[in-house]
Amino acid sequence: MDVDELAERLIAGERRALARAITLAESTRSDHRAAARALMARAAPHAGRARRIGLSGTPGVGKSTFIEAFGMMLVEQGLKVAVLAVDPTSARSGGSILGDKTRMDRLSRSPSAFIRPSPAGRELGGVARRTREAILLAEAAGFDVVIVETVGVGQSETVVAEMTDLFVLLLAPAGGDELQGVKRGIMEIADLVVVNKADGPLREVASRTRADYAGALRLMRAREGDAPGFPKALTASALTGDGLGTVWDEIRALDDWRRDSGWLDRRRAGQAVRWMRSALEHGLIERLYADPAVAARIGALESAVTAGRVVPEDAADELLALFLGPVTPEDGS
Ligand code: GDP
Repeated sequence: MDVDELAERLIAGERRALARAITLAESTRSDHRAAARALMARAAPHAGRARRIGLSGTPGVGKSTFIEAFGMMLVEQGLKVAVLAVDPTSARSGGSILGDKTRMDRLSRSPSAFIRPSPAGRELGGVARRTREAILLAEAAGFDVVIVETVGVGQSETVVAEMTDLFVLLLAPAGGDELQGVKRGIMEIADLVVVNKADGPLREVASRTRADYAGALRLMRAREGDAPGFPKALTASALTGDGLGTVWDEIRALDDWRRDSGWLDRRRAGQAVRWMRSALEHGLIERLYADPAVAARIGALESAVTAGRVVPEDAADELLALFLGPVTPEDGS
């Protein structure tokens, strides 16, 4: 299938075309990269309309159960829902634990849903780039809601926040001690904290946990882009469906407020510029290592640095000079 045909089918909303388009965007083959670029250019004018929701939580908190129930609720309202995952550990562990279709059985069978596990890759930056492209492709295919799921480890939340419009942190009911365990940086990017598993015997403790987090959120400094009353803490049960409607109402309230106030446009514009810079830096580094003169010299310099014969900064300068040419006449010795 050529790029034009693929783009046409994608824009017509064919799920298979979306899957193929994402596969193309994930490929590292240079001919595929070129085709993916052409496809992205065709898709871009049709993208931008979805609500982009980041969702994070530690393993076992109920992410897949939540996304399945929440996604089905949206599908039943007539919305098209895409679920993408960011999991930089998937390459190492040999399999993604996120966005796994078997975990979201009902949703994955719905014709209005699209679920894609995390692209393989050792580097968070590469995984992030491919996920960002997948968001735009899903939007071009007419998806109304794009949920980007990530596991609550390391830097992945920040990366997901950089490609979404709002961020939901899923938590389990727990005593006060565990509140300390949530990293401050993650609380700072959360727009909604949802205490899941608020059902059966866990209901009471879930509602206390919610109150604890509501208090913690109130203590944080106000951020630009916070609608009145946000960030908020809520309870929900992915198992019974209780509270899921409220979660959606709050997401829409915040998202609509941000759209109407012009903040969302500014956020997306800022994200686009940061992505450009990151692509620029990435491209530069790729070219640096692919440079024949650098490649021919780097091994010897690494040995010299290892042996302590050359200081690392001098070695780096020499390689940069090989790549860029001497910066000043003195540097060209
Ligand atoms: P993930 O690792 O974050 O994706 O978590 P899962 O969705 O796989 O859920 C982990 C466990 O928590 C499973 O045994 C679920 O059945 C259970 N679970 C998920 N949501 C709820 C909920 O709302 N209430 C209760 N009681 N259990 C839940």
